[in-house]
Amino acid sequence: MLDRVNKWYDKTHVLRDVSLTVAPGERIVVCGPSGSGKSTMIRCINRLEHHQTGRIVVEGTELTGSTRALDTIRREVGMVFQAYNLFPHLTILENCTLAPTLVRKMPRREAEQLAMEYLTRVKIPDQAGKYPGQLSGGQQQRVAIARALCMQPKIMLFDEPTSALDPEMIKEVLDTMVSLADTGMTMVCVTHEMGFARRVADRVVFMDRGEIIESGAPEQMFGDPKTDRLRAFIAQIL
Ligand code: ADP
Ligand code: MG
Repeated sequence: MLDRVNKWYDKTHVLRDVSLTVAPGERIVVCGPSGSGKSTMIRCINRLEHHQTGRIVVEGTELTGSTRALDTIRREVGMVFQAYNLFPHLTILENCTLAPTLVRKMPRREAEQLAMEYLTRVKIPDQAGKYPGQLSGGQQQRVAIARALCMQPKIMLFDEPTSALDPEMIKEVLDTMVSLADTGMTMVCVTHEMGFARRVADRVVFMDRGEIIESGAPEQMFGDPKTDRLRAFIAQIL
């Protein structure tokens, strides 16, 4: 899906010939030091940033500036960020029904039913009438996951979804992500949660300074890293 992608911010080369194919149903964990380009890569897949050279193809559509590409992204790609980005003036239920009613033109009734289904799946159906500010960080992040799922995406992207959370809330969000993985969802997750990676990742991708340095099964990557850079990184996060 990414083929020799390069991106620069002005003169800073932040993605260097990044190639990554994600098969349907595959779970990929992306890790690497801060500033290595992980968020930029994720944001290019979601077209929040654009790349300069190389190709990115999502669900058969090449990402260019075309409306067709943007439609594909909106419909097929769900994204969860470090900051939950919920709309503070909308209830939890309204946060979840906004995009399906506006973008997918889903009737309100149906959108609400679907939202309740996903809120049940992330185990907070009882919070539907509240506002984001009334929920804990972990609950808000689970709402963010439910909201993304309400668009019924084919791929879910996560960018350090637990790194802003208190330790006791990390587990509930990771558990939600594990159960999502169990449904067969295609997932690309930037996270340093090695337990999560070991449990669900088909493949771990290690980035450093804009490049994919190494990738492989979690046991191999964490147990027997091939490069000094990955070895040093693992020593640091343990
Ligand atoms: P990571 O998510 O791995 O920490 P990022 O993708 O956020 O890394 O950043 C990669 C590099 O791109 C860093 O050197 C960062 O400073 C730079 N960068 C990120 N966003 C911008 C931006 N909007 N403008 C300029 N430089 C940026
Ligand atoms: Mg980042």
